[in-house]
Amino acid sequence: MSVVVVGSINQDVVTRVRRIPAPGETVLASSLVRTGGGKGANQAVAARRAGGASVAFVGAVGTDPEGENLRDALVADGVDVSGLSQVEGPSGMAFISVDDTADNTIVVVPGANAAATALTPVQRSLVSTARVVLTQLEIPVALVQDAATARGAQTWHLLNAAPSAPFHSARAALLASVDVLIVNEHEALDITDVDDLEAAVTALAPLVRALVVTLGRRGSLVVCGEERADIAAFAADAVDTTGAGDTFCGMFAAALAASGRAPQSVDMSLLKVAARAGAAAAAIAVTRPGAQDAVPSAAEVAALTE
Ligand code: ATP
Repeated sequence: MSVVVVGSINQDVVTRVRRIPAPGETVLASSLVRTGGGKGANQAVAARRAGGASVAFVGAVGTDPEGENLRDALVADGVDVSGLSQVEGPSGMAFISVDDTADNTIVVVPGANAAATALTPVQRSLVSTARVVLTQLEIPVALVQDAATARGAQTWHLLNAAPSAPFHSARAALLASVDVLIVNEHEALDITDVDDLEAAVTALAPLVRALVVTLGRRGSLVVCGEERADIAAFAADAVDTTGAGDTFCGMFAAALAASGRAPQSVDMSLLKVAARAGAAAAAIAVTRPGAQDAVPSAAEVAALTE
């Protein structure tokens, strides 16, 4: 398998409201959309749509009808679901309200995503034979650590430390297991406990083979050893930036897998290619509503970058 994503999978329930209700207040929504979500599943779909890469998703859904729908959606996208477990109880759900100013509130019920702290034998075998293992922190940190340990000696571990709060509980172990750490600006500041991006980058970069800090429409910063590169964002008329980071991560992982290189041979030219591909895919994704639904095809990304 080229890319194995170990992470969360949620049913997103998205309501459009004129404004977010205050505590105790009720507002009427103008629309309701149910879509596949969860950082892990979003990133798996992005890696798969990048084309070329065989992609497996490792995670868990519940025994509710949402679980079946979420599994079917991954299958429809060509993602291998042999490592998708089913556990008694509800699937992960995210209740999202978006207002007229594109502000949102999100309540996540972890459900099945919180169930596992260790890989099953099938999941372990997928992880151990992957070229790239991509994780995030919407699942128990112990499961991320288990995946990092189970990977092969030539396998990349990309950690998107999002959300960043769980990072603090296993900071040293996570950093020791990571080849490429991908964070947005807010996460970079949070995990280093500083209030200046430059200080955060200086603290983090020496601890990993490579560091990527995504900066929204300002692009991203890539650091590898003593080298730094600013990767510009592609111009886009953004309508919904949800999932921009997930699209970037999935595409970035697929590009590393496609290179055939091992993490020991990482260099700035490879990272620049991967970050530029991620930026192109994300720039298309932000022009469309939703997360998974907005992820572009390989042909669309190629049209933007060629
Ligand atoms: P999210 O949590 O919304 O998924 P994030 O905060 O993890 O996103 P960002 O830094 O916002 O991630 O975006 C990731 C990448 O997507 C950026 O580095 C950039 O290349 C691209 N991107 C994000 N917003 C825009 C935009 N408005 N226009 C063009 N590209 C964008």
